[in-house]
Amino acid sequence: MADDLTSGHGACNRRHVLRRAAGVLAGGASGFVLAREALPDIVQPRRAGAPGFAERAFEMRRLAVERGDQAYGAVVVKDGRIVGEGVSAVLTTPDPTAHAEIQALRDAAKRLGTPDLSGCELYGSSRACPMCEAAAYWARIARMYHGEAATDAGAPRLR
Ligand SMILES: [Zn+2]
Repeated sequence: MADDLTSGHGACNRRHVLRRAAGVLAGGASGFVLAREALPDIVQPRRAGAPGFAERAFEMRRLAVERGDQAYGAVVVKDGRIVGEGVSAVLTTPDPTAHAEIQALRDAAKRLGTPDLSGCELYGSSRACPMCEAAAYWARIARMYHGEAATDAGAPRLR
């Protein structure tokens, strides 16, 4: 009985410490949820639909160039809203896998709190490379679009 009480308190203390650590990491006091809220807000495009999303992918591309990186940008869209943004960070990170599309998938997953991006669409300034298409496939992205005209590249496939 005494052992049970002791281990019970131990578990309580560990939970308490974890909660505090999470609060500190997120700059707040109430846990993991704050980590998501701490990301800067995504500004939604004024132009509705695909043209606005393609435009925003090209804004991300512009940002990549400004930062001295490769000229690629991408966004993830869910229910008509941008939920993830990606700026190529291959050179600036440096990370050979930090393509704009991968960055956008990571941002969306972080913001939505799930690796499952079912029902989401990926807009890229250029057509996705095989690595990014595979990543979109694993993320369960519904459809991919690329270029200024938001050309429909269909559902991502493993090649
Ligand atoms: Zn790629």
